[in-house]
Amino acid sequence: MEFSSPIKIGISACLAGDKVRFDKGHKRSNFCMDEFANHVEYVRFCPEVAVGLPIPRPTIRQVRVGDTIKVCRPDGSNDVAPQLTEYGKTVALQQAQELSGFVFCAKSPSCGMERVKIYNEEGTGNTSEGIGIFAQQIMKHNPLLPCEENGRLNDMHLRENFVMRVYVFKSWQELNCNSEIGLHELTSFHAKHKYLLMSHNYQAYKDLGRLLADGKSQSLDELKSQYIHGLMKALSKPASRKNQANTLAHLQGYFKNELTSVEKQELCKAIDEYRTGIVPLYVPLTLLKHHLTVHPKDYLEQQVYFDPYPNELRLRFGI
Ligand code: SF4
Repeated sequence: MEFSSPIKIGISACLAGDKVRFDKGHKRSNFCMDEFANHVEYVRFCPEVAVGLPIPRPTIRQVRVGDTIKVCRPDGSNDVAPQLTEYGKTVALQQAQELSGFVFCAKSPSCGMERVKIYNEEGTGNTSEGIGIFAQQIMKHNPLLPCEENGRLNDMHLRENFVMRVYVFKSWQELNCNSEIGLHELTSFHAKHKYLLMSHNYQAYKDLGRLLADGKSQSLDELKSQYIHGLMKALSKPASRKNQANTLAHLQGYFKNELTSVEKQELCKAIDEYRTGIVPLYVPLTLLKHHLTVHPKDYLEQQVYFDPYPNELRLRFGI
């Protein structure tokens, strides 16, 4: 998996180990800094420090006042929501354009991606329906950008899904920065992602194929935009075990004339055991990859599905 430039990932600075939290501490993410860091370059952001808050500092939280959300001290003073919004918008429209993903710190009134507490004005109650003011701007202005929170990255399915989306998005960014790309290149990109997309959403796979087949009926820019929005949306939900197993069975069909009956049984067993949760995805995939080495097939060899990200991340051991 070769790219012409490093994969840049935005990250809440405290997750990278920077001591920028209100209590002068950090929330270092082991996965981000010990594993994923070997494959990507991080760009660190601490919005609260960027808008001038000191380290250490009094805690701040989101408070609903009528139709607006303040980000202030528990006594209501020192609202920095406007500054955080402005800073978030600037990052979103400038540095974030070069990013291929973002990892936010959960629950923070500035960085949380979802379920951030919003208190009532009296401070007597709260709901968990807020979004960090900084994170909100990044996501609003970069709807294609794969985003995730540190806590959710402990779930292996969500972790795998985030990393996979980062790699697909980076491939897209590389393709898209080439002004020469046309319908042919777009169709080749789709072909390479066929089985990955199928494992997530079969309907989206068919719909996007149809979109490209009718591609001449609209402008290339419009087509590209519709395509990548459809693709990233379809990939944003982790693939179900059932869809993965169906995709594996589809791939198995390519070898029906070459495998011995013992090999076929072995592969069927591995797919069934994956389908029923006995073995991880890694098991049937390794068998398929082995058969692909012995019986090469150009069309399958180009499929991103087999190696969507570096194997050292060991993500398919856990799903
Ligand atoms: S959660 Fe965001 S604002 Fe808070 S310390 Fe971490 S990077 Fe800074």
